[in-house]
Amino acid sequence: MNNRLTVSQDEISRALNCVLDPVTGKGLVESGRIQGLMPRADGRVVFTIEAPPGAGEVYEKARIAAENAVRRLPGVTAVTAVLTAERPREAPRAAPQPPTAQGVPHVRAIVAIASAKGGVGKSTAAVNLACAFAALGKKVGILDADVYGPSLPTMMGAVGMKPELAPDKKLLPLMRHGLATMSIGYLVDPESPMVWRGAMATGAVSQLLADVHWGTESAPLDLLLIDLPPGTGDIQLTLTQRIALDGAIIISTPQEIALADVRRGLAMFEKVHVPILGIVENMAYFEDSTGARIHIFGQGGARRTAEQFGAAFLGEIPIVPALRESGDAGAPIVAARPDLPVSRRFIEIAEAALVNLATIRKPAPTIRFV
Ligand code: ADP
Repeated sequence: MNNRLTVSQDEISRALNCVLDPVTGKGLVESGRIQGLMPRADGRVVFTIEAPPGAGEVYEKARIAAENAVRRLPGVTAVTAVLTAERPREAPRAAPQPPTAQGVPHVRAIVAIASAKGGVGKSTAAVNLACAFAALGKKVGILDADVYGPSLPTMMGAVGMKPELAPDKKLLPLMRHGLATMSIGYLVDPESPMVWRGAMATGAVSQLLADVHWGTESAPLDLLLIDLPPGTGDIQLTLTQRIALDGAIIISTPQEIALADVRRGLAMFEKVHVPILGIVENMAYFEDSTGARIHIFGQGGARRTAEQFGAAFLGEIPIVPALRESGDAGAPIVAARPDLPVSRRFIEIAEAALVNLATIRKPAPTIRFV
């Protein structure tokens, strides 16, 4: 029995390299499969194993062997290995019938926050909407599935923090600003290059839904928001098919170009039968010192697009420098300053989205738009 409190990264790497990669026949470390390995002072170890395209199942045994190898090391108290596997290229198109969507235990509703292009403020909106739902008395979780740039750790003031492991070896979400949060960014070393982009991420997202205690029987989550990667490509389609989404909120700026993308986003959700709870227009206008509204990116485009496609328009968020500053500072404005007009906007949008969620989820819908 060894009473050492810490285990070094080298020791873990050596142990992991004794587990053979089923494809290369060499050690897992030597084969470049291990990512985000960071032992913590309390002896808990989390890392990811990156499997080649389509080989996820083959690597499940290696994942278990890797966990066992690390668990045996003196000083290690708990181990979680997250397996990421890219789907084979043709797979999404080849499957004719929709795959069974993944639900999450003890979560009442799952809602995607989506945008058809990057930089429209999707993550800012996701985080602040999550706080707004919480301000309305809901128990809320947020999963940052934006593999291109996981921004949740920064926006939540959780950079460098690691989720804890529960006794059953599942991950506990990090509680930040009253929200249960989880991000791919918590699990990979920010210093190491993010190599598990693209389709590879879909496996990781599934695991972050399945292997995280989002809610418990006695304290279920009312709402789990999923901050999707921007765009309408194969990854987004796969994620929206795989996760049992109860609805989607689309974030857009008012520009014509952004709105053309929104139409594609609406079509994507229609394809996978996920109801649109509504569209939010971000960066709608800027208020100058006299209170006059300057519509930098045009006016009312998102509302018109929503009307045109029979989707609800949930509201506008103006350009507010404090919104960016609060995101950078790791304290969402709705949580830090719920009294500000922009925070009230988010809360009104959240209220409207909840109404639509309740209406759209009714099992036997009659005629909705009258
Ligand atoms: P996305 O997730 O769509 O890529 P982000 O949420 O990361 O976009 O936002 C991009 C940048 O714009 C961030 O710096 C964010 O703080 C800023 N931003 C987003 N919405 C607003 C807004 N309404 N007012 C001011 N800054 C905003």
